[in-house]
Amino acid sequence: MLHFDEIVFGPIFSRRLGSSMGVNLLPSKGKLCNFDCVYCECGWNKDGVGDKMFPELEDIEKALEEKMSKAAAEGVAVDSITFSGNGEPTMHPDFPQVIDVTLRLRDRYFPDAKVSVLSNATLVGRKRIADALMRVDNPILKIDASTDELIKKINKPVGAYRLADIIDSLKGFEGRFILQTMFLKSPDFNTVAHDDLERWMDIVRELKPREVMVYTIDRETPDKSLAKYSVEEMRSMVQPLIDEGFKVQIRG
Ligand code: SF4
Repeated sequence: MLHFDEIVFGPIFSRRLGSSMGVNLLPSKGKLCNFDCVYCECGWNKDGVGDKMFPELEDIEKALEEKMSKAAAEGVAVDSITFSGNGEPTMHPDFPQVIDVTLRLRDRYFPDAKVSVLSNATLVGRKRIADALMRVDNPILKIDASTDELIKKINKPVGAYRLADIIDSLKGFEGRFILQTMFLKSPDFNTVAHDDLERWMDIVRELKPREVMVYTIDRETPDKSLAKYSVEEMRSMVQPLIDEGFKVQIRG
C-alpha cells in the first residue's frame, strides 16, 4: 500500500498537475482518516500501525521552507503544492494555520504554483475548515455517492455522517470548489446505477462546482472485488452535465 513517510515530498511529475510537491499532514507510519473507503490506496484503517501523532505545525513549516527554498535555489519547477497523503488532511488540528503558512511560502518561492487540497469533505461543516479550504486555489472535495446508504458501503464513515449536511455546507462555497467523484461497482453495489446517477447529477446541479472530476479505481485497492468503468462509459454517464455546460474532467 501507498504510504508517505515524509511531511513534504517530491516534487514528482504528474500529467495532471505538472511538477507537484506533496504535503502529508497525517501520521507518517499509517493511515488516519474518518472515512475507510473500499478503494483507499492507503489500505484500511484497521491495518494501520497505530501511529496517531500528527506532525507539529512548526515541523510542517520547517519542512515546507526547506523543500521550497532548496527547489527554488536549484531552479526546480514547482507547479503545484498538493495536500493528500495518508488520510484526511483537514483532520490535522492546525489545518487552517498550515494552509496560511503554505500560502505564505508559496507566494515567496513559487508564486505561480497552485495549492490543492484533496479532502473527503466530512469537516466542511466547521467554519474554520471551510474558510481554509476556500483560501486555497483548488479545494478538491469528495462526494462519491448520492445516498447515505451507498456512502456507508463505499466510504464507510467513521462516526456520524449525513450527506444532506455536507451538501448544505458545500452550498456555502458558492461553486468555488472542484467536486471529485469515484465511479465504481462491486458485486455488492454500483455507485452509478440509474437512480443513483440521476441523484448524483442533481447534487452537481445544486452545488454548481466550478469543475467536476470523475474517476475510477486505478492503483491497488484493498478490496479485490471492485470493478472500474472505462473512460467511454463514464463520459456517456456524465454527458448530460457536459451538455448543460459543466466542466467535467474524466480520468480512467
Ligand atoms: S477519504 Fe481518502 S484517505 Fe480517507 S479512506 Fe477514503 S480514499 Fe482513503
